Amino acid sequence: MGSIVLKKVSKVFGEAKVIPSIDLDINDGEFVVFVGPSGCGKSTLLRLIAGLEDVSGGQILIDGKDGTNLAPAARGLAMVFQSYALYPHMSVRKNIAFPLKMANMPQAEIDKKVADAARVLNLTDYLERKPRQLSGGQRQRVAIGRAIVRQPAAFLFDEPLSNLDAALRVNMRLEISELHQQLKTTMIYVTHDQVEAMTMADKIVVLNRGNVEQVGSPLELYRNPRNLFVAGFIGSPK
Ligand code: ADP
Ligand code: MG
Repeated sequence: MGSIVLKKVSKVFGEAKVIPSIDLDINDGEFVVFVGPSGCGKSTLLRLIAGLEDVSGGQILIDGKDGTNLAPAARGLAMVFQSYALYPHMSVRKNIAFPLKMANMPQAEIDKKVADAARVLNLTDYLERKPRQLSGGQRQRVAIGRAIVRQPAAFLFDEPLSNLDAALRVNMRLEISELHQQLKTTMIYVTHDQVEAMTMADKIVVLNRGNVEQVGSPLELYRNPRNLFVAGFIGSPK
């Protein structure tokens, strides 16, 4: 389960209406990409869904239930941070196990979940290493592992690849897409990179100044951009 519905969700910071009002339907199992220029509100929208920011108005339904006022941990969603959010003094095993330790899960269960996640992410041979002994791609996989062990209803990624070099980015893009095919869990992926959006998404949400300009599959947006902003951003010939 992992459907997320936004109803007239808004966010104001002081005087600034960063998100005037957004309606959006995300279906269970979808790979949804929020794309748009820097400062358009992508991170804010993701943080509202995660519960890291409170909405100023509107409602967020998670699997049909009102999650608007739930604490982040109670929403059943997992935010995947950039790899530099790992604990440098802890082994890969401990980094991945950390959220389960915090939830007081019995050690035997933790060990099994960490082993399962490590297998999916090809990290089995690296569990005793420290983050600094890993490549950038492996570190990013550990950050994903920390989300996987919680078996969330959805994964939320905020530009997870932006501090990796170009070649590695292409690689990780494929790995995240493969992971989605394997797990079939809803993923919301924020990026300002059109290529990432076009290659990874089932559904693209184009944002501009806190508004949804258009929602559709990569092909729909490419063939039928609603306006010049979308056409320009997606790079289609309108
Ligand atoms: P994006 O992720 O698309 O680059 P953000 O969601 O980070 O955009 O920011 C959208 C707008 O909201 C920006 O103008 C930013 O300055 C503003 N903003 C974001 N967070 C805060 C905050 N905590 N307080 C005040 N303004 C904020
Ligand atoms: Mg951002």
